[in-house]
Amino acid sequence: MSGCGPARGAARAVEILVARGVGRVERGGRIAPWTSYQIGGPADVLVETESESDLEGVAEAARESGLDVLVLGRGSNVLVSDGGFRGIALRLGAGFRWSRRDGGALEAGAAAPLPALSGLALDEGLAGLEFAVSIPGSLGGAVRMNAGAHGRCMADVVEWAEVYSFDQAETVRFARDELAFDYRTARFPARSAVTAARLALEPGERGAIAERMREAREWRRRTQPLNSPNAGSVFKNPPGEFAARLVETVCGKGMSRGGARVSEVHANFIVAGAGARSSDVHALIRRIQRMVRRATGIDLQLELKLVGEFKEEDDDQTPV
Ligand SMILES: Cc1cc2nc3c(=O)[nH]c(=O)nc-3n(C[C@H](O)[C@H](O)[C@H](O)COP(=O)(O)OP(=O)(O)OC[C@H]3O[C@@H](n4cnc5c(N)ncnc54)[C@H](O)[C@@H]3O)c2cc1C
Repeated sequence: MSGCGPARGAARAVEILVARGVGRVERGGRIAPWTSYQIGGPADVLVETESESDLEGVAEAARESGLDVLVLGRGSNVLVSDGGFRGIALRLGAGFRWSRRDGGALEAGAAAPLPALSGLALDEGLAGLEFAVSIPGSLGGAVRMNAGAHGRCMADVVEWAEVYSFDQAETVRFARDELAFDYRTARFPARSAVTAARLALEPGERGAIAERMREAREWRRRTQPLNSPNAGSVFKNPPGEFAARLVETVCGKGMSRGGARVSEVHANFIVAGAGARSSDVHALIRRIQRMVRRATGIDLQLELKLVGEFKEEDDDQTPV
């Protein structure tokens, strides 16, 4: 059946997902409400999955329809194009939002929000997850991205992660070393979803843990734009440099394109103002990359994940 056009593929995928009783299935559903940017077009098929059986349904639907699969967590690190995603976009629902203590570790489903897990670690007197208290992602997205802050990252705490492969239709548990964690990246099978993970923490004094979390929250309030839609840092820090410093020096805070603008609070954040389109954010990203490259020779790499197709247009007439 793979090889049928996108419209027939979507119809076939929906048919299979509905027949298998998969949670919430929407043809042409909007992805935007599932992302922190709140912009971007629809998915051919939008699905909320609640169990491994639902994931098996998605695997079958993808296989039979030939459609691609996109896994979303809390959508706090993605920019979805205005044209949307040609395929099945899924989010792990409440069925994957569980957590428990096991000795000196926390085990949790991939949909568990990181701040909630940090809160649980505090309640349990476990130290090591303070850095994550204000990272607005899911556990699955954080493991996938090796999210980090304050000099710590997920690689420091992940003991194992369970990963469902849509191509193999099975779950495999990977130990930390097999995940090849690096700066804001890790190695996973193609077309797969992290479904759970175990975080190894250490006994700690609650007052000290709470204080470190308070400091982390306070630092964020001072240094990040919390009131305008964004997806965190747009660019990775180049070796020995800060992307924010480069953007601020070369482009300046406040540089804008359509409704998108370099944050006045943090130059590595692009905020989406009223009426912003994904193409505005994308064009601004490319303009910044061109300007920084010309001025410094440094190629800024994206930390943000682009979803869907974007037109490459050259809107930068500014001589540098
Ligand atoms: C205000 C703000 C502050 C931020 N601060 C930080 C910070 O300090 N440090 C930092 O590292 N990040 C930060 N981020 C970015 C973001 O929160 C992290 O990258 C987070 O880990 C993304 O998790 P998510 O669930 O939102 O993933 P999503 O944005 O939904 O997805 C990100 C990527 O992971 C994949 N993915 C998501 N879930 C899964 C899964 N279950 N299995 C497999 N792949 C998956 C997606 O396909 C995509 O490629 C910030 C974002 C915002 C908006």
